Amino acid sequence: MDWDNEDYVLLQISKNVSNITKASDRLKNDLNFFLKALKIDNSIFDYAPKHIQDNKTFYKKAKAGILARPYIYLENLHEKFRDDKDIVLKAVGEYHIFIVDASPRLRKDYDVSMLAVEKTRANGDIEWLINELDDNLLKNPKFVLEAVSKNPDFIKFTDKSFRSDKKFMLSAIEIDPNTYKYADPVLKNDVDFVLDAIKKNPKIKYYPEVGVGIRTNPQIENLGGKITTIKTPYFPVYLNFTDVFEDDVILFKKDMTELTQKIKASKVPNFSKALTGEIFIGSPKFFKDTFNQDINERSGASYDTVGDVIWYYIPKRGVTVTNLIHEFGHKLHYKFIKDGASNIDIYDLFTYAKSDQCPFPKIGDPISDLREDWWIVKMASQEFYLNKIDQEKNYIYKNDDGDKKVFSYKKMIELLNCPSQYGATNLSEWFAEMCTLITLNKVKPSQQHIANMFIEILKK
Ligand SMILES: [Zn+2]
Repeated sequence: MDWDNEDYVLLQISKNVSNITKASDRLKNDLNFFLKALKIDNSIFDYAPKHIQDNKTFYKKAKAGILARPYIYLENLHEKFRDDKDIVLKAVGEYHIFIVDASPRLRKDYDVSMLAVEKTRANGDIEWLINELDDNLLKNPKFVLEAVSKNPDFIKFTDKSFRSDKKFMLSAIEIDPNTYKYADPVLKNDVDFVLDAIKKNPKIKYYPEVGVGIRTNPQIENLGGKITTIKTPYFPVYLNFTDVFEDDVILFKKDMTELTQKIKASKVPNFSKALTGEIFIGSPKFFKDTFNQDINERSGASYDTVGDVIWYYIPKRGVTVTNLIHEFGHKLHYKFIKDGASNIDIYDLFTYAKSDQCPFPKIGDPISDLREDWWIVKMASQEFYLNKIDQEKNYIYKNDDGDKKVFSYKKMIELLNCPSQYGATNLSEWFAEMCTLITLNKVKPSQQHIANMFIEILKK
């Protein structure tokens, strides 16, 4: 064993890089020896004395070795590399969370931070990142605006001062109109601001966040896309007609009269409280172009819980009044009962209701017996009845028009197999359908018990 022999020590290093510590003092201070060792194991850099680490050639070669790696785990690297912008940019470019392992200097770096923001779009969480970014950068309008262009969600977590700054918000809107939603309420009530925003992007006029008061402002009414707003008599419900024909408007208004009467007379307690807010009526194309929303062919309408508006699609599917009762049911659930969608009594009843009954439907049963997949069956809106079970055990449902819906036996099992884990969507669909059934007086004897409990909870 000769720890002063170059070849011997290189061999030992190839077995374990830490063997360098056993080498003679002569070798431990020999730059040429370290350059050779670097080819064997790049991490020899960490064991080199400072004067060798500071040598430009040695550093450059070690750095090239790191940059050639498919992933750069910054936290394992020597502090010199964690303070090297090329290396840090490559690491953060691979995964934004690596920014926390950069040197204190580079953690505050504009480009490194911006790259981290950019990478969140694909694989990250902007809310987490924003806590890791430098305060000075977060106060820098140039940085914040550029960050919004990399990931529009960035605006949600920025300082209120930006969101109440007219000039800043208009620039943000130019980048992405959806940032309008995060404007400070003071700005949203400022007609001049809204006017400028709509000039930047006409779609903004249709955003639920604009509110009916501003939308019907004479200055705004004639700007941007066409929209006709009508208040329904007796209730503060506003109908916004977009790209629909006059015939549709007349029919819809008639349906609204029937709807308000039904909801007013409903046995669902306080249901008429939900008769507020706005309904947007437009073609699927309108909703696609404006909100980038794909319309589910099966549904005639939907309720947007965030904007608190009902969207109604023309040409309509199913029955207008029934569909709208369903959507107002969602609204009642989210906005007008105690704790909204997280009301525990409703949740408990839902859990009870779904565990209570899972029998196979019998001939003549409405499709509503399939309680599990409300999206498909939309029980109250489609009057389908089980007409036949064929030899292949297909369940054939028909409505009065003779339209058929066929469910295989396998699908029936799936639909009836009361799953233990219900998604929140199903709870809210169940709530809306209960409101619909009760309001339309279509509660079946088997459901009456649940319906009574439902009504009792809502009375509170
Ligand atoms: Zn629904």
